[in-house]
Amino acid sequence: MRIAFVLVSLLTVFLAGCAVSMTDIHGFNLITLDQERELGNNFAVEIEKQHQVVNDPEVTRYVDRVGRRLLGGAREVNFDYVFKVVKDDSVNAFAIPGGRVYVNTGLLKAADSETELAAVMAHEISHSVARHGTRQLTQQYGYSLVLSLVLGDNPNLLAQLAAQLFGQAGMMSYSREFENQADYLGVETMSRAGYNPLGMETFFQKLAAIGERNPNALASFFSSHPLTAERIRRVDAEIAKLPPRQYPAIDNLEFRRIKSRL
Ligand SMILES: [Zn+2]
Repeated sequence: MRIAFVLVSLLTVFLAGCAVSMTDIHGFNLITLDQERELGNNFAVEIEKQHQVVNDPEVTRYVDRVGRRLLGGAREVNFDYVFKVVKDDSVNAFAIPGGRVYVNTGLLKAADSETELAAVMAHEISHSVARHGTRQLTQQYGYSLVLSLVLGDNPNLLAQLAAQLFGQAGMMSYSREFENQADYLGVETMSRAGYNPLGMETFFQKLAAIGERNPNALASFFSSHPLTAERIRRVDAEIAKLPPRQYPAIDNLEFRRIKSRL
């Protein structure tokens, strides 16, 4: 009886230890920062075989500028971030390990302002800041994966992993806790970077309405983390907790010019 009690207590402590605290961006990760950088470089080669990168320097420069502004509001910047646009008209964006963020042309087309674009980018940057990609790899594959990646004894492993993780939807499926944390950190990041985080709530509402009218339009958008009413309520509750502040007006002139180039 006593032993059973101790076991149950230990299990409870263990499970509690696994839960993601919204404010804690560090968690169990077997992959070092250097390994994650290298992993990201290799992943990028695979991703860019599957997705056509938009080479228009004005478009890239613009998305890069929005990304850098958001990084100014991030809790930690461990990587040399790379922002790229990929030619894909589904409404989507995704982050791969090592601080690489991809924005679909479909997201740029669906957004009506720079703030709406920044909302989804802030969510993706937050996955990178909290290293959700390599933490999830750690959880799913453990030591065997890390050893294979570090020793490089299976050259096809990365390609296989990329296909598994990013699948046809073109984005990694994170756990619900990681998704909630990316929203949480995304709201904070937007606010610190001077983007009104209400833009995240309104954009999510707008996309949810589009999805309701035409489920196919958003088939791949946040497929692993649908835009439920509960999710939007969480974002709303977090915004309400932020200290009140005036956000600078965002000039959408360049945003509109970039959209017209797509
Ligand atoms: Zn996400």
